[in-house]
Amino acid sequence: MSEETSVVSEGKVVVFHYTLKNDEGETIESSRDAQPLPYLHGVGQIVPGLEKKMEGKGEGDTFDVEVAPSEGYGEVQGPGPQQVDRTEFPEDVDLYEGMAFTAEAEDGTHLPLWITDIEGDQVSVDSNHPLAGETLHFDVEIISVRDATDEEIQHGHAHGPEGQQAH
Ligand code: ZN
Repeated sequence: MSEETSVVSEGKVVVFHYTLKNDEGETIESSRDAQPLPYLHGVGQIVPGLEKKMEGKGEGDTFDVEVAPSEGYGEVQGPGPQQVDRTEFPEDVDLYEGMAFTAEAEDGTHLPLWITDIEGDQVSVDSNHPLAGETLHFDVEIISVRDATDEEIQHGHAHGPEGQQAH
């Protein structure tokens, strides 16, 4: 094994811990409650503003990143939530607020949608990510940096911390 330290660059798999807070300082999510998150650098697996700040960092580095909506989950766009009948969804799927799914448009393109509210048999869906319009505050700790496997490069995502969880 080489003693050479890896820095984050294209084609590396980075495993990191993060806590994400909004502008009000409320914690939205944290990997510290579970496992550190592996991702393949340079393919847009994480939000662009965070991915940029990862570049050149190394194992053990800790830093804070502020990400504007344009470099995060986007600005809020479109007409706002739309009402859909519960029967439009598969009966055997448990729906919940914040749930993401993909709708197929008439022209065959796929559109990501999120459930914003459920009232009886009426489901509100929106094309904005729940964090659209939010300035994101990440506090990051890099756990490890390694070369991606050929398979990970082909798939365009990381296969777990050690590259063993193919999917
Ligand atoms: Zn895969």
